[in-house]
Amino acid sequence: MKKSRRLAPVFSLLGVFALFVACATGDPSRQPAPAGAAPAATPALADLVITGGVLLDMVADDPDPRPVKAVVIRDGRIDGIIAAGSATPVPQSASTIDAGAGYILPGFFDAHVHFRPWLPDASIWKRASNYYGITTLFDTGPCGEHCTETGQEANEWIEAYKEFMNTSAVPDGPTLYMTGRRIQGPDGTHPLGESLGNRDAIANYLDSLVALGVDGVKVESVLAADLRAVVMEEANARGLPVVGHSRDARESIDAGMKFIEHMWPVTSSIAAGDPGDKFNSPQHDHLMDLDKAPELVRSMVDNGVYLNPTMVGRYGYFADSLRDQAAVDFQSFEFGGLYSDMPERDKDGVRAWWVRAADWDAKRLALHEQGLSKVETFLKLFSEAGGKVLVATDSGEDKLVGIGLHREMKMLADAGITPYRILLGATRWPAEMTYKDESIGTIEAGKQADIVILGSNPAADIGNSQDIRYVIKRGRVLRSPDDCSVITPPVSLSCEAY
Ligand SMILES: [Zn+2]
Repeated sequence: MKKSRRLAPVFSLLGVFALFVACATGDPSRQPAPAGAAPAATPALADLVITGGVLLDMVADDPDPRPVKAVVIRDGRIDGIIAAGSATPVPQSASTIDAGAGYILPGFFDAHVHFRPWLPDASIWKRASNYYGITTLFDTGPCGEHCTETGQEANEWIEAYKEFMNTSAVPDGPTLYMTGRRIQGPDGTHPLGESLGNRDAIANYLDSLVALGVDGVKVESVLAADLRAVVMEEANARGLPVVGHSRDARESIDAGMKFIEHMWPVTSSIAAGDPGDKFNSPQHDHLMDLDKAPELVRSMVDNGVYLNPTMVGRYGYFADSLRDQAAVDFQSFEFGGLYSDMPERDKDGVRAWWVRAADWDAKRLALHEQGLSKVETFLKLFSEAGGKVLVATDSGEDKLVGIGLHREMKMLADAGITPYRILLGATRWPAEMTYKDESIGTIEAGKQADIVILGSNPAADIGNSQDIRYVIKRGRVLRSPDDCSVITPPVSLSCEAY
């Protein structure tokens, strides 16, 4: 297998990996069918049944919580949903979860990460995702410094990790989707960008991405409007969504993009005065002219644009609402903590990120806070007009995957977005945006059994998104109140460490 060469460091750690798989208990999908069962008279044994609970299937645009009698899972898929009060009997099952008064939702989908595995076997990414209810990740720019330093080819690197993450016979972590290296214009300077100057070059690169098995395409800000439109046409022809940066939201929408990443394209579009070309920092958001917002909001909503503001990444280190969270990260780096085995260099990156604003003077901080306030106002307007805001974190380099998703939810709630629409931005909408909604994003019969069960209602208070009782991936329980075996060491010392 040609990939084994590229991924040698990973497979050298497979012994450790195999050990914890072997230690994990009770895989329901491994149960044999009962001997001699008569299929016509006796329904096949289910793999897993969730009894009770309130279902938030995320199918509707408004909250639609429904008590259920059971959610039935077979072969890693949702086989059926039995409504509360129904006369339909709950099938016999190899394994049962009593959801009690809990809330049953689709697993969370972080649609903007930069996968940096930290350890060759990516165990921290799996553990943090399993712990925080994230069942799907979408990488939008592979390997960064790692590939620059090692000389590994970025697209091959991420593809090998995608295979490693996704093809385990027994699910042990989130699905990883990917875009491959970003497309920039002929003058682009990103070290891992693909500099393309005409339709043929773009078509050839997209063909190579299709051959690689990508799930989307990423573009850079420096990709000019005409080439951006070509990327859109060629990507649409290949059934691939396009994500990434742009200089200007209007220009991006005109080129056919359905995705805006970060808030600077919005700020550039509705700035007071000349936007110039340096609007890629939160320090410019205070220049947003909110009188111009309604027209842009209308255009974005009418064109079905998904907005990914990356609140934590751009504003989290100076935002009041996350002021207590630096200490949470630092604690999680200590012995027994969820991220304790991260390499020191990567911990230092997170530590440095949290103190980015430490030496700012009062004027600079005030401008940033003014910018954040305008961003929040814009997001509320957009959401109330029907706009789809994604809870996608930009985690990976110096922001922690896992807990970052819940922080993003909190910052969006602080902006005034309703809890239910925040939940849509972490479940159904990212699945739609990435064209994965046939298999994930909602809880419906036939879909993959990627499920979280919370102890309290997140549609009433988004803070309840962290009240996680069970995390289920393709029908396998990866987190439960009484079994930490698949949340690998060191956190297995205690289920309640965090
Ligand atoms: Zn990013």
